[in-house]
Amino acid sequence: MTTREDCLLRDAADPLAPLRDQFELPPGVIYLDGNSLGPLPRATPDRIAAVIRGEWGTDLIKSWNSAGWIDLPADVGDQIAPLVGAGAGELIAADSTSVNLFKVLAAALRIVGEDDPARCEIVSERDNFPTDLYIVQGLSELLGGRYTLRLVESADEIPAALGPKTAVLMLTQVNYRTGALHDMAALSAAAHAAGALTVWDLAHSAGALPVALNDDGADFAIGCGYKYLNGGPGAPAFVWVAPRHVSRFRQPLSGWMGHARPFDFVPGYEAGEGVARYLCGTPSVLAMSALECGVETLLAAEPYGGMAALRAKSLALTELFIERVEARCAGQGLTLVTPREAARRGSQVSFAFDSAWPVCQALIARGVIGDFRAPDILRFGFAPLYIRFTDVWDAAEALAAVLETGEWLEARFAERSAVT
Ligand SMILES: *Cc1c(COP(=O)(O)O)cnc(C)c1O
Repeated sequence: MTTREDCLLRDAADPLAPLRDQFELPPGVIYLDGNSLGPLPRATPDRIAAVIRGEWGTDLIKSWNSAGWIDLPADVGDQIAPLVGAGAGELIAADSTSVNLFKVLAAALRIVGEDDPARCEIVSERDNFPTDLYIVQGLSELLGGRYTLRLVESADEIPAALGPKTAVLMLTQVNYRTGALHDMAALSAAAHAAGALTVWDLAHSAGALPVALNDDGADFAIGCGYKYLNGGPGAPAFVWVAPRHVSRFRQPLSGWMGHARPFDFVPGYEAGEGVARYLCGTPSVLAMSALECGVETLLAAEPYGGMAALRAKSLALTELFIERVEARCAGQGLTLVTPREAARRGSQVSFAFDSAWPVCQALIARGVIGDFRAPDILRFGFAPLYIRFTDVWDAAEALAAVLETGEWLEARFAERSAVT
């Protein structure tokens, strides 16, 4: 691919191209941040308006039954399930990623502890998303400091860190900063060989690439609704538990929605069947409705080859971006931190650069929205549902222009916002 004309031809020949029309994308913007907040699906505003005016406004509380509000966590979960290699009835939408992580970690520790109480380590990566590490710290403290977090510096060190002390291997499948993709099958097998269980965070993989939870032997998984699933800001997250574990422990956030019969209003807790016991309180109906629209944008890819076809396009987009940035920004001080090998890469490309924050702001001013991750990462997400090959070309040209002109040095790009 050597010219912009080639990119235009490639877009014209792309069988997935019509899927872009499912989104409201503002004109003049190249949106490379769908890995942080997916864009607005066209269907969402009308769906939310119908839920508000019709279901809430007109049918009032009857809608818990008549509109199926009470079934939304299971129904939306069943829609997400095939995207991540889970079966029907194995996954629910609920709460936030952080909260769901607390539930599954507690369950995993309890299951491992019943078989072998001496296991006291949770193995993860220092570079894992901080909330994941913080949740371990909070849970461990609650459990009397019985568990310690053992952090490896790089993925290659994981197998050697697993042993008779390991309770849980907790990993994010695609690293939020570098975009490096773990081998879920190999690492799950290594954890099991060591007698441990696995907890996978799919925040940067669900909806970005095919995930095979059952086939790869995962034990527990959680994921995010507002990134590649396009569920809207703060969308509900999801939880999956391998069927072999789901009835073994009830998870500690034993709210009434996870009860076997919530509307019996009895004082004693009795865990519900299957993954329903991973619910806690009342679902956010408006947010669930928006998440449903978001998930539908991915299910719409089924006739075009589904997640496998999206993955092929995603890799072509990220490969082109690496090629173009390296061709156009050579000598400017950018260092690629994303694996070059396709099989080891998620759906994003990240470069380290000393002044990444102002460069990111200067790019946004040019209409190319990526993001900055402390301390020095420029991160660009390529969601194959709506990113075009010409967008990749133009984004690389914009980055080259920002660096060549030195416009990122302007004072207006230096000020740091609360959210990065
Ligand atoms: C985005 C992200 C989260 C977000 O957690 P919230 O509870 O939704 O704030 C968690 N883990 C990872 C790896 C993420 O990338």
